[in-house]
Amino acid sequence: MSIADRLASFGVTIFSEMTALALEHDAINLGQGFPNWAGAEFVKDAAARSLVEGGSDQYPPSQGVPALRQAIADRYGPLLGRQVDPVGEVTITCGCTEALAASFLGLIDPGDEVILIEPFYDAYPVFVSMTGAVPRYVTLRPPGFGIDLEELRSTFSPNTRAIVVNNPHNPTGRVFTDEELAVIASLCVEYDVIAITDEVYEEMVYDGDHRRLATYEGMWERTLTLSSIGKTFSLTGWKVGWGIAPPALTAGLRAAHQFLTFTTPTPVQHGAVVAMGATAGFYEDLRSGYQKKRDLLADGLDAVGFQVHRPQGTYFMMAGFDGFGFDDDRAFCRHMVETTRVVAIPPSVFYHRPDDGGSLVRFAFCKDEEILTEALDRLSGLK
Ligand code: PMP
Ligand code: GLN
Repeated sequence: MSIADRLASFGVTIFSEMTALALEHDAINLGQGFPNWAGAEFVKDAAARSLVEGGSDQYPPSQGVPALRQAIADRYGPLLGRQVDPVGEVTITCGCTEALAASFLGLIDPGDEVILIEPFYDAYPVFVSMTGAVPRYVTLRPPGFGIDLEELRSTFSPNTRAIVVNNPHNPTGRVFTDEELAVIASLCVEYDVIAITDEVYEEMVYDGDHRRLATYEGMWERTLTLSSIGKTFSLTGWKVGWGIAPPALTAGLRAAHQFLTFTTPTPVQHGAVVAMGATAGFYEDLRSGYQKKRDLLADGLDAVGFQVHRPQGTYFMMAGFDGFGFDDDRAFCRHMVETTRVVAIPPSVFYHRPDDGGSLVRFAFCKDEEILTEALDRLSGLK
């Protein structure tokens, strides 16, 4: 009795592992990315009303509560520069995670090649493996973590079926440039490739602009724009996500979604309807609040002696730890929790050659400023 081959090599996720370590050491958890504050009140109120007033106890349609699909179509139409059809082009999923899984399982066949940009979100290679696809990698390197466009070009082949583009990018905090996205787009068109974009950090951009791959020439027809309310509304536990894609790609996503989860819980979908109506001020406050936290943590880590890669987006920050006497990220993270009671993520797990990430550590800054300040105070004991 053992785990199936397609999953056996992946073990327990680094997020579960490091959060367990944080609890064990009563440490400040700057590892797994989740806010320490309550989620957006106006969204919670709407879900609570739907729960109490009734009408949300049974299955909604598999594609999602119609009002939510309409609200998503209304919000994203202008962002994608086109009218989005809530009936044929929007699907509600169990977080962005399920939207990703359904895109893979519904649109990619065994043996197809899938390009992953690494460091990758840890679930991507698992979806590649579950699908029976073949991963190809493009590596982002510090400083800057830009895409090497020659390397990208050489990774596309006639066997390429899809590329996964997480923008803004976890864990580097990179926001891809117009040039990078334009090259990805032109290669997708040239090789007839699907783009699966993971935009869960779309509202956390501090430097530069968030550009959507689906808006590039020839890309609407071949792009799935995936996201969720988890990060933007500080509701990571709700697992309301979605995929926006033209009917042909939506058909693939839905073919898998209807059997993976069928749907996501009804009351939280009703909460998400109201989330989609958030004001411009809400998004501005979110961005400026996170920007302050980014600067606090980046300046603080710099002062402690880390080599900080200041992120342009997301709520993650990569830093080098040269000078602390460790040459392995896992050993360093373990030392850090044991001596300072601060947890971070060893990013070597986000590379297919773990050594490529072995000299970095990832911190999350989705925490109150007092917590970040206390963490920095503790980390000053590292020297
Ligand atoms: N993609 C990325 C890049 C993430 O960081 C996360 C965060 N957990 C997810 C997807 C998953 O999103 P969700 O919680 O909506 O499933
Ligand atoms: N996305 C979060 C992170 O990167 C964690 C998500 C999870 O725990 N699965 O830290």
